Amino acid sequence: MSINVLIVDDSGVMRAMILKSLRMSGLPLGETHQAANGQEGLETLSQHWIDLVIADINMPVMNGEEMIERMKENTEMRDIPIVVISTEGSKTRLEQLQQKGAAFIHKPFTPEKIRDTIKDIMKLGGSDGNQGTN
Ligand SMILES: [Mg+2]
Repeated sequence: MSINVLIVDDSGVMRAMILKSLRMSGLPLGETHQAANGQEGLETLSQHWIDLVIADINMPVMNGEEMIERMKENTEMRDIPIVVISTEGSKTRLEQLQQKGAAFIHKPFTPEKIRDTIKDIMKLGGSDGNQGTN
């Protein structure tokens, strides 16, 4: 299976870095889409088949937290795995995101960290042999 990814970040440089890391990761990438804020992210989600969302928190128009809340209210979007990549340092905020089922990566990040987190959240080829079925 190949993974269709949506990258949501208000920084074009950051989106490019994340995309480069994904390409280097060896993960089976399918289509990649980009959005500059949560609003654009939700529009992309409603128009395309997306298997994984990688999202920033701090963005204009609609931030990552609100986008994730909207996704959780939507039956078509609520089960899509989410990885948040942010400079966010507040423990409370991070715990709230994790309660919503999102994994978290701190900026700055390494390509290996992105790869391992995605493998983990999407249950791809874990060392314990448990293979995801979706
Ligand atoms: Mg930002």
